[in-house]
Amino acid sequence: MVRTVFLLIVSLALLGTPLLQGCAVNPVTGQRQFVLFTEGQEIQMGREADRDITASLGEYDDPELQAWLDDMGQRMAAISERPDLPWTFRILDDPTINAFALPGGYIYITRGILAHMNSDAELAGVVGHEIGHVTARHGVTRVSRAQLAQVGLGLGMVLAPELRPFGEAAGAGLQLLFLRNSREAEREADDLGLGYMSAGDYDPRAVARVFEMLGRASGAEDGDRIPGFLSTHPDPLERRDRILEQTTGDDPIYRGSRDDRAGFLQRLDGMVFGTNPREGYFRDGAFFHPEMAFRMDFPQEWRTANARTEVQGVSPQQDAVVLIGLVDEASPSAARQAFLAGQGITTVSRSDERLNDLPAASADFRVEGDGSSFRGRVVFVRHGDLTFRLLGYATQASWSAREASVGRSLASFRAVTDPAVLNVQPRRIEIVRTEGEMTLEGFLQRHPSTVDAQTVGVMNGFRSGDVIPAGTPMKRIVGEGPPRD
Ligand SMILES: [Zn+2]
Repeated sequence: MVRTVFLLIVSLALLGTPLLQGCAVNPVTGQRQFVLFTEGQEIQMGREADRDITASLGEYDDPELQAWLDDMGQRMAAISERPDLPWTFRILDDPTINAFALPGGYIYITRGILAHMNSDAELAGVVGHEIGHVTARHGVTRVSRAQLAQVGLGLGMVLAPELRPFGEAAGAGLQLLFLRNSREAEREADDLGLGYMSAGDYDPRAVARVFEMLGRASGAEDGDRIPGFLSTHPDPLERRDRILEQTTGDDPIYRGSRDDRAGFLQRLDGMVFGTNPREGYFRDGAFFHPEMAFRMDFPQEWRTANARTEVQGVSPQQDAVVLIGLVDEASPSAARQAFLAGQGITTVSRSDERLNDLPAASADFRVEGDGSSFRGRVVFVRHGDLTFRLLGYATQASWSAREASVGRSLASFRAVTDPAVLNVQPRRIEIVRTEGEMTLEGFLQRHPSTVDAQTVGVMNGFRSGDVIPAGTPMKRIVGEGPPRD
């Protein structure tokens, strides 16, 4: 949960309107294909989804690194079949290993995948692949199919629409991310991407190492770094072999030689690694937010997630929800008034008691919707210069069973003064050079990390027993990060 970001609901306006169907010529293949959008609509769709994604996932706060990625991306896009799109390249503040593209030229690289790259050429391979999805209009045909099939997917914990009586549906932009590209589309993007690498004279053989890394990472992930890139990109090792085969031929487009480990790693020095606990973390079923200095307990056994714009908990039976969010109103009672005035909401009771010594205004309410009805409690509480909305609700039928645990959860919100919570820091990447020739084990001993050996090996591109040459720049992970459960 990030204080500056309020929930931004962006619906893809186009998705709700009658569709303009038609054929368009694919810019890459020259063949006609069935798409539902003009290029202008494609760009508009991308722009709206971009707003959604940037608000929900957040950009990584390093303008220099962002500008460097943009420069790399723009040079590659300029030699593509669609140089005139409003190409936009962003690093997302997300620890998962992922990269993706949206229609219209919006490309995203997570800091999680950056942490696993070991040269500019490797990154260029990822960027080129994503540019390939855009130039070949994979997203557009994907969305077209999705619309026809009425596909509805959620972002992990983002709540199912039937559990969302308050209009905070996940933006449709996020849903696009979970649509798979076909195998053929992946191959096509691989091929196009290798070609675009010539724009920076990047060595296309570096891309084989990316697939090698993805293959290894998929076996070594911990819970908060699920390899999303893999889930949409089948069979990394087969693709590695295909790329190696392709790039050993005589095609001049594959003659790039740039593959700079040292210069690239220097750019990653100090980058946040893994979950950033400054933005909130869970421990023993409680949520702690160091920046906003509060904690709140969630009911036992509930699934929880920190979704940046709000913190969410869902009962195991999926019939009750607890949400922590922020509202604009400075006064809890004004915020309550605005909430209770919402469509379909009926007030059951109100209370103006303070909550753990903080100014608060709460209410029990009922929601009658088409076919579904809910009972719930809302507490608006003022803490620091923020007004929090603590919202718990359940289906009408489940409320009597869930009311007590939901109520206890909302009532547990309190200020935190413990310096151990307030001063928690994320793990970071530190770049060091091997003093002499050493094995990976020797490196780990000499330059210990606060993550496991396997992770350090994968992120540096070395395996157990490998001999690392003297003077090789290497990543290690320093800092304790979020307290463990
Ligand atoms: Zn892909």
